Amino acid sequence: MIYRRSSALFAEAQRYIPGGVNSPVRAFKAVGGNPIFVKEAKGAYLYDEDGNRLIDYIASWGPLILGHAHEPVINAVIEKAKKGTSFGMPTEIETQLAKLAVSMVPNIDKIRFVNSGTEACMSAVRLARGFTGKDKLIKFAGCYHGHSDSFLIQAGSGAVTFGSPNSPGVTQGTAKDTLLAAYNNLESVKALAAANKGEIAAIIIEPVAGNMGCIIPEESFIKGLRELCDQEGILLIFDEVMTGFRLAKGGAQEVLGIKADIVTFGKVIGGGLPVGAFAARDEIMGYLAPDGPVYQAGTLSGNPLAMSAGLAMLTELNNNPEIFRSLADKTKYLGEGLAKVLSDNNIPFQMNRFGSMISIHFTDQPVTDFESSAKGNNGIFKKYFHGMLSQGIYLPPSAFESYFLNDALSYQDLDETISALSNIAKDLQ
Ligand code: PLP
Repeated sequence: MIYRRSSALFAEAQRYIPGGVNSPVRAFKAVGGNPIFVKEAKGAYLYDEDGNRLIDYIASWGPLILGHAHEPVINAVIEKAKKGTSFGMPTEIETQLAKLAVSMVPNIDKIRFVNSGTEACMSAVRLARGFTGKDKLIKFAGCYHGHSDSFLIQAGSGAVTFGSPNSPGVTQGTAKDTLLAAYNNLESVKALAAANKGEIAAIIIEPVAGNMGCIIPEESFIKGLRELCDQEGILLIFDEVMTGFRLAKGGAQEVLGIKADIVTFGKVIGGGLPVGAFAARDEIMGYLAPDGPVYQAGTLSGNPLAMSAGLAMLTELNNNPEIFRSLADKTKYLGEGLAKVLSDNNIPFQMNRFGSMISIHFTDQPVTDFESSAKGNNGIFKKYFHGMLSQGIYLPPSAFESYFLNDALSYQDLDETISALSNIAKDLQ
């Protein structure tokens, strides 16, 4: 494949934008080479600036669960845009989306819209602190909750891809309130709760992790977290920015059968426009301004274009819940196909899969937390990434990311992807 124009555009971008990108993982630092500049996309395919067609397994890092430029979403945005792009006043569509989201997700009465997953998680933690009157937060190594200061302590995703899970610029004062536990290790959480008794406002977790690759929570672990929170008066925050409206209508809460106190959303809920949200039962949401004392606001929050994209997206998912099954089936088919090729070629790997989230880790040990995920062989991963790209398959450019399947992918696309791996497998060793 030729990437001449992408390379030229990247060189130009680097003159004006730090690293040439507006979000670090896009720069391909973890895998080497120059990033690809996309021109347009439709369904399961990206078309880059050099005219290459790529099968997309990122879907804008999750939002585009029905594929790119999905007509009902695009039409809703176009029609809305003709009537004005922002008012800073209440609009009916905000309530329509709120009502629909609340009807789809268990255990929430009210929802507040923001502009990103970062804002959603940041606001959820402030709300938890305001509600409980406590300061400390437990998070898990390798989980990513956006780039707000309190979360950049052993964060996953781009933060760990660049080897700086603890970012300079986060003050000691902030860092000391974030306590770090190990995923799937209930004892590590209990120890923190005991050592900080009466001081912990919330535990925030990706209920199925996607930012250290895909990591599945053990049942006893996630149930144990709920019990611990109940015993200690700690709020359990499910960060469903990735899993919300992707694993099921009701997200991970529904699939795992665990009730969270506060739930955060992003990605799918905005249909590809910048939207995040956080939601909880009335008692907790009542603490939020203007009803309560915890301040939170946004000039563009509830933006009509973003709301219309979200409403079109959630309406479709609500009306056709078989999409979740279809996506999980496709992911299983892909996973089994790729696993067979890797096994046939004697390449050590672990494949973690949950619903339409999947990741391959080049290690022979089970990957259950950040430590085991970090043991993956990045040398093989780089060859795998570039090999697949040369075959027209666009995967996340970091071993610490989950793939996100979209429903526009056909079984033919999946077969093409499995064949692509067959073509390059012998070069992976
Ligand atoms: N939480 C999770 C689980 C995420 O995966 C992400 C982003 O990937 C975020 C929060 C932050 O969302 P955003 O990038 O929209 O700020």
